[in-house]
Amino acid sequence: MKKTAVLALGGNAIIKAGQKGTISEQFANTQDSLDGIVELIRQGYRLSITHGNGPQVGNLLRQQETGEKEGLASLPLGVLNAATEGTMGYMIEQSLQNKLREQGIDKQVITIVSQVVVDKNDPSLKDPSKFVGSTYYSAEEAQELKESLGWALKEDSGKGWRRVVPSPLPIEIIAASTINELVHKGQIVIAVGGGGIPVYRRENGHLEGLDAVIDKDFASALLALNIQADLFVILTGVDKVALNYGKPDAQDLDTMTVAEAQKYYNEGHFPAGSMGPKIRAAIDFISRGGSEVLITSLPRIVEAFAGKTGTRIVR
Ligand code: ADP
Ligand code: MG
Repeated sequence: MKKTAVLALGGNAIIKAGQKGTISEQFANTQDSLDGIVELIRQGYRLSITHGNGPQVGNLLRQQETGEKEGLASLPLGVLNAATEGTMGYMIEQSLQNKLREQGIDKQVITIVSQVVVDKNDPSLKDPSKFVGSTYYSAEEAQELKESLGWALKEDSGKGWRRVVPSPLPIEIIAASTINELVHKGQIVIAVGGGGIPVYRRENGHLEGLDAVIDKDFASALLALNIQADLFVILTGVDKVALNYGKPDAQDLDTMTVAEAQKYYNEGHFPAGSMGPKIRAAIDFISRGGSEVLITSLPRIVEAFAGKTGTRIVR
């Protein structure tokens, strides 16, 4: 049996901190990030790839504001998620196709713009808390934006006010069985990009979009369960997860059990806006039947698969 893995790429894989995010920067970063993934494909892994969209969807939201001032109709957040799944999926898909061709590996790569069902009564829909976009506003500007555009804004760690959007939990990936079939046939499937497009079911069964952003770590855990992945891999800005991260007594972890992960989480080692959702997603994957989660950085992925680095979360 060939091994199956879901690889969740962090936002920094495609727009690096400090970059403007021009399309050539994004393509160059994407190409650079794929070498390790190509090696895993050569080793015979069956893969589905997911990715974040924070900087990209933030930029698009800003472009809507600017466009509106010029009299253009703006697109809502739910639809912008669909846009980033398309643009980012295209970049990853084409970059991977070119790399595979260079290496003489005959594999198909396909992007699925994925709808993901959430609960219409998810508490986060009434209490938006996920920061989007890179603009900080003054308290007065925030009040003005609340009144004129109906935005929700929150104060972000002393730096100013930022727009926040709801981030409901994913319940069902509409294309799950198709993704499952394709991956198990050996095709590489890029799916639930940016967490997917949040939708809910109306009473008559029809799907309807919502203006929110699903956490990509949670959506990726659900995908990993849906395709019975042997391994759920979260690729981020660190080689290993640490206790007391950023402090003098920081301690990198090679392995933790779900119970240990939960204990460290409760002790506050994993902040809400960064490592927290990854650990929660890992716990969720394993408690619902998954076997192993690996958290590491993209440049070290091949070594991490070989057991030489990374943090493993196990039952
Ligand atoms: P991504 O874009 O991959 O989702 P985030 O920035 O949201 O990345 O979260 C990963 C980051 O969380 C790491 O790069 C690191 O800076 C930070 N971090 C916070 N707590 C920890 C921890 N306990 N161990 C390791 N990294 C941590
Ligand atoms: Mg993140």
